[in-house]
Amino acid sequence: MKTVSIVVPCFNESEVIDTTMDELLSVTKGIANYKFELIFVNDGSSDDTEAKLLAHSKLHDNVRTVSFSRNFGHQQAVSAGLDVSTGDAVVLIDADLQDPPKVIEDMIVKWEQGFDVVYGTRASRDGESWFKLVTAKTFYRLLNYLSEVEIPLDTGDFRLMDRQVVDHLIAMPEKSRFIRGMVSWIGFNQTAIEYERSPRFAGESKYPLTKMIKFGLDGILSFSVKPLKLSVLMGFACSGIAMLMLLYSVYVRIMTDHWESGWTSLFVAVLFMGGVQLISIGIVGEYIARIYNESKDRPLYIIKQQRETDAEETSPTAE
Ligand code: UDP
Ligand code: MG
Repeated sequence: MKTVSIVVPCFNESEVIDTTMDELLSVTKGIANYKFELIFVNDGSSDDTEAKLLAHSKLHDNVRTVSFSRNFGHQQAVSAGLDVSTGDAVVLIDADLQDPPKVIEDMIVKWEQGFDVVYGTRASRDGESWFKLVTAKTFYRLLNYLSEVEIPLDTGDFRLMDRQVVDHLIAMPEKSRFIRGMVSWIGFNQTAIEYERSPRFAGESKYPLTKMIKFGLDGILSFSVKPLKLSVLMGFACSGIAMLMLLYSVYVRIMTDHWESGWTSLFVAVLFMGGVQLISIGIVGEYIARIYNESKDRPLYIIKQQRETDAEETSPTAE
């Protein structure tokens, strides 16, 4: 029988944890022919989340609790859950029931059809502030525009991943972990399932603006070096304008008699030097981009293994 691990990061989720536990246990009981392993990662909560989780772990032998020594952050909590998971597939889900556990069943169906990653795309988001909606929409579009790999729009970490993908994800050594981007980078057969994102049913968002900004920057900076290259473009723009100004002032000097002495040479020199400096910074940026890419130490490529669904197909002796 195949095992599916479910990883739930929890930070001060005391108000929601019991309901989430019941809901996950009942949904997984309703899915026949699979074993489920529930992994709760307590990300240094200061309320009684940990005590509640430990109590549940005692009660149910398929519920495990991993506790951090302090709050390390959502992506680190998810990474820890992946590290200890043993399932043939792993589902990532938030603790606040914003991602409906019912969707897990549909994800498993897609997985059995041969998809290695089934990610949840938010068809709608109820009960979130307009600020969160606008920033999230803009962020995902900007990220997609800047990123070298295509990262699906309006998609969080709610997803199912085959063991093959999970193993590659665990093996990626980078420290700034933007998991949804890393999974896109890994590749394999990926597909989306649309779902309605419900409001958090209790408690407050554990993503204040500061954490959101850090998370957004991690996403953009880990998947794009375009910001480093921006100064080259600006430098060429400045130098270009300087050249045009130069032509224009030569024209004014020769063809008309209303010219200001000294002004032109000063202005053109300032623009031109600004351009040269920006281009130089951009060149340094290009080198830093390369150092950065090297230091991320991602594998050069990932080879797809033939999935052993049919023994005859993969066995070299079966002719
Ligand atoms: N979370 C975490 N560590 C943190 C912040 C959040 O483990 O430092 C967990 C949180 O408990 C929840 C998930 O990450 O299960 C998503 O957080 P939240 O629902 O607060 O974010 P939002 O839905 O508002 O973006
Ligand atoms: Mg939430």
